[in-house]
Amino acid sequence: MNNFSFFNNTKIIFGEGQIAQLTQEIPADATVMIVYGGGSIKKNGIFEQVTSALEGMKWIEFGGIEPNPHYDTCMKAVEQVKTANVDFLLAVGGGSVIDATKFIAAAAKHQGDAWEIIQSFGGAVQGALPVGCVLTLAATGSEMNPTSVVTRADTQDKLFFNSDYVRPRFSILDPQTTYSLPARQVGNGVVDSFVHVLEQYVTYPVNAKVQDRFAEGLLSTILEDGPKALTDPQNYDVRANLMWAATMALNGLIATGVPGDWATHLIGQEITGLYGLDHGQTLAIVMPAVWTYKLEQKREKLAQYGRRVLGITEADDLIAAEKAIVRTREFFEAMGVRTRLADYDLGADVIPQVVAKLEQHQFVQLGEHGDITPADAAKILELAL
Ligand code: NAP
Ligand code: FE
Repeated sequence: MNNFSFFNNTKIIFGEGQIAQLTQEIPADATVMIVYGGGSIKKNGIFEQVTSALEGMKWIEFGGIEPNPHYDTCMKAVEQVKTANVDFLLAVGGGSVIDATKFIAAAAKHQGDAWEIIQSFGGAVQGALPVGCVLTLAATGSEMNPTSVVTRADTQDKLFFNSDYVRPRFSILDPQTTYSLPARQVGNGVVDSFVHVLEQYVTYPVNAKVQDRFAEGLLSTILEDGPKALTDPQNYDVRANLMWAATMALNGLIATGVPGDWATHLIGQEITGLYGLDHGQTLAIVMPAVWTYKLEQKREKLAQYGRRVLGITEADDLIAAEKAIVRTREFFEAMGVRTRLADYDLGADVIPQVVAKLEQHQFVQLGEHGDITPADAAKILELAL
């Protein structure tokens, strides 16, 4: 096991009816900005639950955060934060709303050009307004981590930053909020949380037994309950297990002491920045191709995943690993998330553009060995056609 330090100070309030706890978590004299997306929360009753919990408090709202949130939209929110003297940000939504809120929180305290926050990967963050979350989509883990992904639409740059300043103070996870998700977002969320675990698990063995068993538990849970969320959307236990699994997948716990891959996320991020595919869709396309390309290096952990999670009984590691790749692709497809570039009308002509973006962003040493160059990424994408 590698050395590590582990820290997570986000309070989780989990369960049915817990949105009512909001008043316990936000200072009574705060001016709150409720940040939300395209309006789903106004149709499914979540906005009403939030505002009735905030009754008697001072609040304003900022809606219109788009999926893969835009820098310009966040900056409009920053202006309103300043004019209304907002001192608490409440994100109500999925990963996009939470990520945007984290960026707004840091940008509101930033002297100078706020894009520096992104360019420095968070190093330039000088402070942040406090952030709380009401999660409505099980997927990203943003509700319990220091990461935010923001897109600059004019230059098609989709980039992330990390900062302990923007870790949510609390996140309320009521599984019932996810009943209204469209099937496409259920699929995306299942793929995203599953891939988060795999990015931290399918690397090379470091004898980290605790982390491996945690990861396998999360994978088994998502594999078992993901399809049920499509066929039985109002099943509370299914939604609860998926929600908690997604949070645990990317809150730092299973990252402790193990190598991380993240090539799939970084290549996928460029595809979304350029062509607007959903985050989950890009992951379903790229991960099987990364594994195929890196089969030799990942063989041992792929075989372990195949045997312990997928029930593959094959004794030979290489064959077990190959079967695990096939079965993973089948799982993504069963969740309604297609796994080839061609499924999204993208052909070989996109490869040089993705590669150019990786170079521009200096993502030139990807993967757990740091040996995936942009030229390797091109070969990976050829396997994803
Ligand atoms: P999302 O972009 O937040 O939301 C996708 C869609 O789902 C939106 O149209 C949204 O509608 C809708 N939606 C959300 N909750 C709903 C509900 N309860 N009922 C009905 N519709 C609902 O999706 P996401 O997958 O959670 O977030 C994706 C973003 O997170 C990407 O930008 C990705 O790069 C990023 N990400 C971040 C991290 C991290 O660690 N911070 C990790 C992975 C990915 P409304 O807009 O109307 O609400
Ligand atoms: Fe992700």
